[in-house]
Amino acid sequence: MSFDIRKFGLLFSALFIFAATAQAQSAKEIQAALDAAYAKYRDLQEGANADYIPALAAVDSNIYGIALVTTNGKVYTAGDIASEVSIQSISKVFTLAKVMDEQGPEMVANTIGVDATGMRFNSIVSIEFSQKALGGPEMNSLVNPGAIATTSYVKGDTRDAIWNSILSYYSDFAGRPLSVNQEVFKSESDTNQRNQAIGYLMYAYGYIKSEPMRATDIYTEQCSVSVNAKDLAMMAGTLANAGKNPVSKKQVMNAENVPELLAVMATAGLYDDSGKWLYETGLPGKSGVGGGIIAVSPGKFGIAVISPRLDEAGNSVRAQKAIADISAALGGNPLAVKAR
Ligand code: GLN
Repeated sequence: MSFDIRKFGLLFSALFIFAATAQAQSAKEIQAALDAAYAKYRDLQEGANADYIPALAAVDSNIYGIALVTTNGKVYTAGDIASEVSIQSISKVFTLAKVMDEQGPEMVANTIGVDATGMRFNSIVSIEFSQKALGGPEMNSLVNPGAIATTSYVKGDTRDAIWNSILSYYSDFAGRPLSVNQEVFKSESDTNQRNQAIGYLMYAYGYIKSEPMRATDIYTEQCSVSVNAKDLAMMAGTLANAGKNPVSKKQVMNAENVPELLAVMATAGLYDDSGKWLYETGLPGKSGVGGGIIAVSPGKFGIAVISPRLDEAGNSVRAQKAIADISAALGGNPLAVKAR
């Protein structure tokens, strides 16, 4: 049998072209999924801006941006990715990640808890139900009481040291230096008496060990970090990629802690609508009252949508719909597998 190098050459070029087209096609498919969801919900006006924080009521309700970052570092966008909103509750994920990295996931499970409260994000009754004496802690770091406690656990000798380490950790997830929207920070600081009450109650019950008002203040500042849809998608994409930023290639979070973090997001990321969300999408996600939602398809992509109009539970209406559509189009649901 003679070895014909030309035949092999031909075969390899054919394979190469096939592989290249397959990739180009899937890039096209991803972009088409984003474009379709963008167009489908562009005119949807349902819901309203959060207004219990005065500065949020003033944000342009029409902002609508979609971004998706794959684990191989490709970025796709549709709509407005220039406008920034405050990260709000989405920050809770990344402060929890930090505390898990600093002190291990068991510490979080044992002190704050990793159970859904089934109640609103700023519920005070949920604190009463979650006391250790009643078989708790049945709380989690993604609702306000658990989040303020989680912030209180971040290591650092001074307020400045704690804050700088939080902000630089968030920035590594986003792959660029993030900063605080001072107007939102001031507006929320002036009106966050309810969160202060939550901070004191969490202190009274021993969840917070010291300085509950410092923890509440840092928590408020972390909620005021300014992000666009691409920042959020990069943060989600880093979680999808085992804690390694898929573009900067920096290992931001300890890969071992990512499954536990995603589990808490799946349990409680969309507050009392977390069950519904998981049922529809299978995706660990997190929403914020600024209008952003992130979702993670582990090993595949992170996605984010910003649109400030919220439903009754405090979740962005368009963001939920657009993410559900895009993930369905791309086979993003980690709970849906094909039989062998
Ligand atoms: N900063 C907001 C608050 O504490 C965050 C709430 C949210 O996004 N759900 O009320």
